[in-house]
Amino acid sequence: MIDGHIHIERGPYTLDWINQFVSKAVEMEIDEIRLLEHCYRFEEFVPMYDSVCAYSEYVDAWFHRNAGVHKLADYLELIEQVRNVQFPVEIRFGLEICYFQEFEGFTSELTRDKGFDFLLGSIHFVDDFAFDHKAEHWAGLDVDKIYRRYFEDSISLAKSGIFDGIGHPDAIKLFGHKPSYSLSDYYESLANELSKNNMYADQNSGVARRCPKTASLGMNEELIRILKKNHVKIITSSDAHCPEDVGYKIKELNNRYHQ
Ligand SMILES: [Zn+2]
Ligand SMILES: [Zn+2]
Repeated sequence: MIDGHIHIERGPYTLDWINQFVSKAVEMEIDEIRLLEHCYRFEEFVPMYDSVCAYSEYVDAWFHRNAGVHKLADYLELIEQVRNVQFPVEIRFGLEICYFQEFEGFTSELTRDKGFDFLLGSIHFVDDFAFDHKAEHWAGLDVDKIYRRYFEDSISLAKSGIFDGIGHPDAIKLFGHKPSYSLSDYYESLANELSKNNMYADQNSGVARRCPKTASLGMNEELIRILKKNHVKIITSSDAHCPEDVGYKIKELNNRYHQ
C-alpha cells in the first residue's frame, strides 16, 4: 500500500523527524510514503500568491504565518540526506504545488530538473478564492460558478504538462456545496487529459478527515469510475500533516477502488 501525500511541514528538516513518518508507515503496513511540502513554504514561490492575498485579508494573514519559511535548497539538502539512508519503507519526495494558470512558466522554471521524485498539482484557489479554509467563506458566492471554474482549472492543470499527478481532484465538495448541474462532462474531460498526460489522481482521505460531516471518503464514485475507464492511475493518500495521520484510511480507500 502507498500513502502518496504526506506533509512534513510541522517539524524540522532532520532524519529524526522523517523517521517518525517511517515508523507510523510501518505500523500501518504502508510500503511506500511520498513526502512533500506545500510550495508556498518556500520563499521562491511567494510571488505566486500576491493576488490571492490581495483578495482576502484572512488569506493574507494565514499566508504570512505559513509561507516563505524555507529555501528550496534546504529541502533538496534534506532529500539528499534521506536518500543516503536505508529505511524499511520506500520514500519519495515531492512538492504539492498550487496551480495558477498564469504561473505555469514560473512553476516549471522553479521545479524542472531539481531532482524531485514527483510533482503534485492541486487547486486550492478558484479565481483567488481560498475555497477550502472555512465553510462560512462561501456565504453569498455563486456555487455553480465556483464548481465550473474549479473543474476548468483542473483540466488546465492536467494539460499544463508540469505535474505527475493531480491532488484531491474533487476537494471542492469538502463543505457539502453542490452544483445544480451534472459534473459528468467535467469528469470525462479531466480523466481524458490526465490519461493523455500520463498523470495519476490522488485518492485522498484528508478531506473526509477534516470534514467528516460533509465530505465522503476519497473521490466521488462516478469520478472514480470514469478515471478507471480512461486508465488513469489512482494513488491512495492520507494528506497527513503529522506522523500520526500517516496511513489514515488507506486500506478503506484501496477497498473502495477494487469494488
Ligand atoms: Zn492540497
Ligand atoms: Zn496536501
